[in-house]
Amino acid sequence: MSAKDFLLDELYNVDLTLQETLRHDYAPGSGREYFDECKTRIQRLTDETNRVDPGDSTAIAAIASRLSEIVSQPISLIERSHLGEFSWPFAHQLREIATPLCTESGPKGALTPIIHILADGGLGAYRIYTETPLPDPIRHRRILNVVFPRTMKHHVLLHSIFGHEIGHAAWAIPALRSALRTSVIEPLFKESRLETPAEAEKWIQDPARPPEITKYLSDWAIRHTHPFTFLGPNNWAHYSWQQEFFCDLFGVVTFGPSFAGAHKTLLGGIDPSGLMITTSHPPHAARAPLIARAVDSIRCLKFSASGSAQLDAAIAKFKSFVDQMPSTNSNAQIDAAIAGAMTTLAKFPSVLYQALDIQQLRRVCELLARRIPPVGAQLKADGLDLSPLDFRHILACGWIVWLGHDELKLAKPLKFLDVNRLCDRGILHRQAVELERERGGT
Ligand SMILES: [Zn+2]
Repeated sequence: MSAKDFLLDELYNVDLTLQETLRHDYAPGSGREYFDECKTRIQRLTDETNRVDPGDSTAIAAIASRLSEIVSQPISLIERSHLGEFSWPFAHQLREIATPLCTESGPKGALTPIIHILADGGLGAYRIYTETPLPDPIRHRRILNVVFPRTMKHHVLLHSIFGHEIGHAAWAIPALRSALRTSVIEPLFKESRLETPAEAEKWIQDPARPPEITKYLSDWAIRHTHPFTFLGPNNWAHYSWQQEFFCDLFGVVTFGPSFAGAHKTLLGGIDPSGLMITTSHPPHAARAPLIARAVDSIRCLKFSASGSAQLDAAIAKFKSFVDQMPSTNSNAQIDAAIAGAMTTLAKFPSVLYQALDIQQLRRVCELLARRIPPVGAQLKADGLDLSPLDFRHILACGWIVWLGHDELKLAKPLKFLDVNRLCDRGILHRQAVELERERGGT
């Protein structure tokens, strides 16, 4: 069997595997589109393989690699999507934010992304597979696979970390990335230790660095044949660190305070010292102050008095949770980067976090404290008031009730899971209210 024949055989196998995925039920929304996109990709790659010269080993290797990356892997992810394993109201909200942001132009008009949701793994599972654009002459639709942690089905407060992952998805869209580079990355890192690979190298080689970083570098030296460096072939590490900081900032401007709560809880849990570094991710100790200052800069945790001293104390508790960190960035850099992000994202109205009114906050917190899932709709003497309630506001209130539960002096204590479940249900109700509004309700 020649390499070309083997590749054609594998294309046939992949097609059979795709057919097998039809046995299962998936979340409503994108199953058909996902299937069609994979089917088209198999067809294009088969046509390309049929045309290839059997002696052209470079072309055959390139097609084999693309087959695995752009078809086999996405197919393997389809069957891992089970409706009962993640919060689908939250997944719906993510789709609403990511779709306009990640729509690209193609030869025949706008190409909306196909957003697929699955549950996998635990604490570190949060991610969005974004796909790199293909150099195909016929443009394909981008598939975004959103991964929720299987073990935290109802933990919508933690799911706010998707604000960061949507930042990665935005970064994957070339037209958006260049605008974000100019408007966010440049002002954020101007004259900082991460402005250039050379500056970053100077910083990490500084003898005054924390001992944990010295240990990390000596461990690295044992495991690798080349030293850790931001220079030369490893300068993608610098690019990757910049992207991580950008995504954190993106999380704040899109999800507001609940993003800060999720980030601090998840990263503070995985790396309590805050000093763990990798070539792809900067230390939490450097990311946390950026988030705290960004929260300050957009004033999303600044409220006038609510009329309830207990609730004001609960809000202050949340604020101090976000603030308990060392600092490395200057406010001016962060303000400029946020202004750039706001300008660039202004054309996507559903993406940016909007200020939460203190009386709305009070009403939602009171409902949560009484174990009632919060919802914008209210029954009134003269009918039904279908007011919209942004899901990110529900999440912000969830964090306030959770972190401030001592201050709120709840008659019956709530566990973290309870608050999450109530918010999850509130987001579900919100979707029902939206559907009713679309049907012509008021
Ligand atoms: Zn990231």
